Amino acid sequence: TERTLAIIKPDGVTGNHTNSVKETIINHGFRIKEESFIQLDEDRVKSFYAEHSSRSFFPSLVEYMTSGPVLIMVLEKGNAVADWRALIGPTDPLKAKVTHPHSVRAICGLNLQKNCVHGSDSPQSARREISFFFKMTSSG
Ligand code: ATP
Repeated sequence: TERTLAIIKPDGVTGNHTNSVKETIINHGFRIKEESFIQLDEDRVKSFYAEHSSRSFFPSLVEYMTSGPVLIMVLEKGNAVADWRALIGPTDPLKAKVTHPHSVRAICGLNLQKNCVHGSDSPQSARREISFFFKMTSSG
C-alpha cells in the first residue's frame, strides 16, 4: 500500500465540492488516514509550492491558495499516488472536460488555476508533502 497527499483547494471548499470529492475518494477504494481543515498562510504556501517560485503564476497561486480554507488529506491504497492523479485528471479543468470528462477537475474545477484539487506527483513528493503537513509514523 502507498500514501499520497490530496488537497481540496479553496475553490473546491467554497464551491461545496468537499463531500462529493470525499465520496469519490472512498468509492475508488482509498482510505482517508488523516484529514485536516486548515487556512494556509503565505509562508506555508510559498514553501509548499517552492518548486514553482520562479513561475509567472506564482504570486497569483499564493493569493489563491490563501484565499480560504483547504481540506488536506492523506489517502492510502495500493498505487495511491498514480491512482489519485488519474482520478483528478489534467491540471486544466477546461481541457479535462474534453479529454477526461469524469475526472474530479472536469467536474469541480473552474480554470487552470482554480482546479479544485491537488495530488502529489510522485511517491517522493507524497512523502515530502505528507510530512510537510502531518507528523505521523510510517505504520500510521
Ligand atoms: P498540483 O501540483 O496542484 O496537483 P499539477 O501538478 O497538476 O497541480 P502544477 O504544474 O504542479 O500542476 O501547478 C501547481 C498548481 O499551480 C496547479 O494545480 C494550478 O492550481 C496552478 N497553476 C499551474 N499552472 C498554472 C498557470 N499556467 N496559470 C495559473 N495557475 C497555474
